[in-house]
Amino acid sequence: MVVLFVDMDYFFAACEELRRPELKGKPFVVGTHPEKDKFRGVVQTCNYEARKYGVHSAMSINKALELCKDLVYVPDDYKYYDEMSAKVMKLIRGYSFPVEQDSVDEAAVDLGKISYENAKRTGEEIKRRINAETGLPCTIGISYGKYLAKMVCDASKPNGFGIVTEKEMHAFLDSKPVGKLPGVGEKTEAKLKSIGITTVGELAKVNPVALIDKFGSAGVDMQQLAKGVDDGKVVSTEETLSIGRQSTLYRETGDIEVIGKKLKELSDDVAKESARKEFMFKNVGVMVRYSDFTQVTKAANMTHYSSSSEDIYKMAISLAKDLINGKIVRKVGVRVSALLTTKGQKALF
Ligand SMILES: [Mg+2]
Repeated sequence: MVVLFVDMDYFFAACEELRRPELKGKPFVVGTHPEKDKFRGVVQTCNYEARKYGVHSAMSINKALELCKDLVYVPDDYKYYDEMSAKVMKLIRGYSFPVEQDSVDEAAVDLGKISYENAKRTGEEIKRRINAETGLPCTIGISYGKYLAKMVCDASKPNGFGIVTEKEMHAFLDSKPVGKLPGVGEKTEAKLKSIGITTVGELAKVNPVALIDKFGSAGVDMQQLAKGVDDGKVVSTEETLSIGRQSTLYRETGDIEVIGKKLKELSDDVAKESARKEFMFKNVGVMVRYSDFTQVTKAANMTHYSSSSEDIYKMAISLAKDLINGKIVRKVGVRVSALLTTKGQKALF
């Protein structure tokens, strides 16, 4: 099996550069404006110029402004990013290989039993077409398993292309810090360090008993990956870009408590549907149709991926309050997007 992993480079920032070419070469962040909402004033993503100043995602926008005085702030626009993502995914799906969309800007493609030479040709074509047809840069990694292909992709960023075959895998893996293994988070990295393991090569060689002591059977899986054994399958995801529910109110009203109850029901339904489809989400949107049938929508990002109905509701009610603002409403809707599949996550350590 040969797996191709595509990851768009600094996706939200690249989308913004595309429609606002004047941003090119300037340090900028995409985020929610701190004045609009101090608590969500977080950098969602930033371009490479901003990174040079130490700015990174999940940092508060205020902190980012301290680090870089000339920083340009760009408000996020998830509807637009979803549209660009859909274009990219449609192009990839056009090749008729099984595709697992891992997030708004990442996908694993199962190329099946083909030679690395053919995989290279296909991969280069996909990369060239994504760039030509969407105007966005991406990086592609190719290897013989899903997790390894992702690692190759990560190591080839930005705007890169990498292939690592079975023969080359040890040279590729051995000197990498263990934190570069997909699924190894900071906690696991610290635990490994406490038993003297900092590189993937060390992890591959350690006596498995020490790993089982610390991590149980997950320790064995982790070591397998460190040895270059990857049986991560590409699990084809549906072309789900958002999950939403709408409902007409029993009677038209401007009463936020009544509307809130409906939003709560819809949030519960959306959370259930997301759980059923094995997705987490980061973006929550609401739709409000007024009594005159005009319709407005508003969406915002949470700081973390979530699967909780409570998180959806909290965001939905706050967005809805802005939209309703004394007006009479007949229908409301809730949707989540910026989805992340949780399929196959049991392999995480
Ligand atoms: Mg990306």
